[in-house]
Amino acid sequence: MPEKIGIIGLGLIGGSLAKAFNKAGIKVYGYDKSIDSISSAVECGIFEVLTDDMDEFLDFNPDLIYIAVPVNAGIEVLQELGHKNVRTLITDACSTKATICYEAGKLGLNFCGGHPIAGKEVSGFANSEAELLKGALHILTDGDEASVEILKKLHEKIGMKVKVMKAEYHDEIFGVVSHFPHLISFALMELILKKDKNLLEYTGGGFKDFTRIAASDPVMWSDIFTDNSEHISNVIDEYIDILNDWKQQINKKEKPVLMKKIRHVSSARQCLYEKI
Ligand code: NAD
Repeated sequence: MPEKIGIIGLGLIGGSLAKAFNKAGIKVYGYDKSIDSISSAVECGIFEVLTDDMDEFLDFNPDLIYIAVPVNAGIEVLQELGHKNVRTLITDACSTKATICYEAGKLGLNFCGGHPIAGKEVSGFANSEAELLKGALHILTDGDEASVEILKKLHEKIGMKVKVMKAEYHDEIFGVVSHFPHLISFALMELILKKDKNLLEYTGGGFKDFTRIAASDPVMWSDIFTDNSEHISNVIDEYIDILNDWKQQINKKEKPVLMKKIRHVSSARQCLYEKI
C-alpha cells in the first residue's frame, strides 16, 4: 500500500483524491503547473509539499504518482515522466483510457490506467471534497497484476468500489453512459441559444436536470470528445436512428406505440438507482 502519493493536477479530482488519501492517513505531495491551483491547495494544509517544479516533485520519491489533469495534458505529463526515466508506479484519473494506456506502454512506464466514476460540473481545487469519491466506482485498466492489486486496495481504502477492464472496452462503455450524455446536454443548450436565448427564462426543473452537466469544463470535454471520437461518433449515429424513430411515431400520432416506448424506458429509469 503506498504511503506517499504524489498527485499531478490539483483540481476537482486531484484535490478530492488528495483529501481522501490524507483522511486515510496517507502522505500527499502535489504538483501543478498553475500557481492559482497551488495557492488554492496550500490553504487546506494537507500536503507535505506543493510545487510547480517537476524535478522537486520527483525528489520526494512518492510510492505512487497519480495524474489528475485533462487527457491531453496527461499524455504530455507521461511523456515528461518517460523522458525522466521514472520507474515509480503511475496511475491516472482521466476520463478516457485507451490513448493514455497506449502512450504509457510505448514509453515503457510502470502504469495502470484509472477512472474514478465521480465528478461534478464544476472544476478546481476549491470544489474538491473527499466525500465525492466515497461509495463511487473506480475503474482500473491495463495494469499488470501487482499494480492492479495495489491500486485496488488503495481505492477500496478510501471507500471506492473497484472494477478492472480493458482500456478499449472502458472507452466504449463510457462513450455511451458518460461522454454522449454530456454531448447532448451541450447540444441542447446550443439549440436554445441558437433559437432564442430568451427562451431560457421559461425553463423548469426538467431542463435544469438535463442541462446541469452542460456547465462542464471546455478543456476537459473537448479533450474527451476528440480522444474518444470513434466510439462517440458511433453512439451519435445510433441515437439519430432512435430520434428518427421517435419522430416518425410522433408525426404518425401513434399514441399506443409512444406509450409502450415511454413505459419501457420509464420503468427502467425508475428502478435504476434502487439496483445500484
Ligand atoms: P480541473 O480543471 O478541476 O483540474 C485540472 C488541474 O490540472 C488544474 O489545477 C490544472 O492547473 C492542472 N493541469 C493542467 N495541465 C497540467 C499540466 N500539464 N501539468 C500539471 N498540472 C496541469 O479538472 P478535473 O475535473 O479535476 O479533471 C482532472 C481529470 O480527471 C481529467 O482528465 C478528467 O477527464 C478526469 N475526471 C474528471 C471528472 C469530473 O467530473 N470533473 C470525473 C472523473 C474523471
